[in-house]
Amino acid sequence: MNWEPWTGCYKISDGCSNCYFYGPNAKRYGQNTIQKTDKFDWPIRKKANGEYNIKGNKILPTCFATDFFLPEADEWRKEAWAMIKERKDIDFLILTKRIDRFLVSLPDDWGEGYENINIGCTVENQELADYRLPLFLSYPIKRRFIACAPLLEGIDLTPYLHGVDHVTVGGETGREARECDYGWVLDIREQCIEANVTFWFKNTGSLFKRDGVVNKINPFKQTSMAKELGIDILDGKRFF
Ligand code: SF4
Repeated sequence: MNWEPWTGCYKISDGCSNCYFYGPNAKRYGQNTIQKTDKFDWPIRKKANGEYNIKGNKILPTCFATDFFLPEADEWRKEAWAMIKERKDIDFLILTKRIDRFLVSLPDDWGEGYENINIGCTVENQELADYRLPLFLSYPIKRRFIACAPLLEGIDLTPYLHGVDHVTVGGETGREARECDYGWVLDIREQCIEANVTFWFKNTGSLFKRDGVVNKINPFKQTSMAKELGIDILDGKRFF
């Protein structure tokens, strides 16, 4: 289960080119109309017996059908922070391509950061890694990771790994997907080993290049194939 307090998004960088919001599902997901959902207050909604609808002690992927830091959501985000603060028993997992809006989006009581938020900064190529990651590392965040997804080229993350707990890597999915080269994935994995940072190869993407051969991978097999390669170093960590 995810928490989608609002929906809709629009492209901000190269990794967005084939975002599923702009594919066949565009109509269904509302594309670039940013609007609150009927699940806006889901984490604090209670049942008749007074218990929360969502049980505690879980990871809750948040804003995976939008971006938490969209400027259009500035007003709503204040309430979202308050809900996150109330549910200290839930780990909110937030991925963003708009980390440069982090400081202007914070609640007054943020301090050094809330404990129950794990923020993932998405970087899909070297240029964006070199722009977003120094900002990401400079912000007060207690738990942070890097998501190279969709991975569009080899990336040198070594200057940035000292400040993160984890790296997730994934290929691009969809009919127009660009290639994901296994060599790039293995190279990032080596960087993680050197830096003592955990690593998860989440999915191969639709066009997976391995040993010089590009294969088309069925969307339903992209995650299991990545897992079967057996290169994850998770050290007991869970991300989804
Ligand atoms: S930021 Fe994410 S959700 Fe928004 S358009 Fe880009 S890939 Fe899609």
